[in-house]
Amino acid sequence: MSDCLFCKIVAGTIPSKKLYEDDDLIAFHDIHPIAPVHFLLVPKMHVAGLADCGVEHKDLLAKMLLLAPKLAVEQGLVAGFRTMINTGSGGGQEVFHIHFHVFGGGATIPKI
Ligand code: AMP
Ligand code: ZN
Repeated sequence: MSDCLFCKIVAGTIPSKKLYEDDDLIAFHDIHPIAPVHFLLVPKMHVAGLADCGVEHKDLLAKMLLLAPKLAVEQGLVAGFRTMINTGSGGGQEVFHIHFHVFGGGATIPKI
């Protein structure tokens, strides 16, 4: 997707503060963090959002879910963290390339 911000970050044409990369995934710090630690876990493959995922994406989604706690601990979030997936404009999604927000640290996160 030539006009997708996160595809450009995956390709390296837009810089990011990368904390993890493998063949399928990349993780980088959010440019506008809402907590002392706030990073995004992003598949290299362009998928617009969670509502666009099908059964063919189950291994990728599982890999993302299983990686999130490992990266969170590596980033110092030993007491826990929050994951968030905004989906669609009604869900507050602004970048239409699926990503998991992982954040925490500092003050207690409000209960939802
Ligand atoms: P969402 O609202 O779930 O689509 O989240 C998009 C997130 O991407 C926001 O938290 C932004 O702060 C973040 N973001 C936008 N541009 C960049 C960038 N160039 N590098 C890192 N994070 C970004
Ligand atoms: Zn993309």
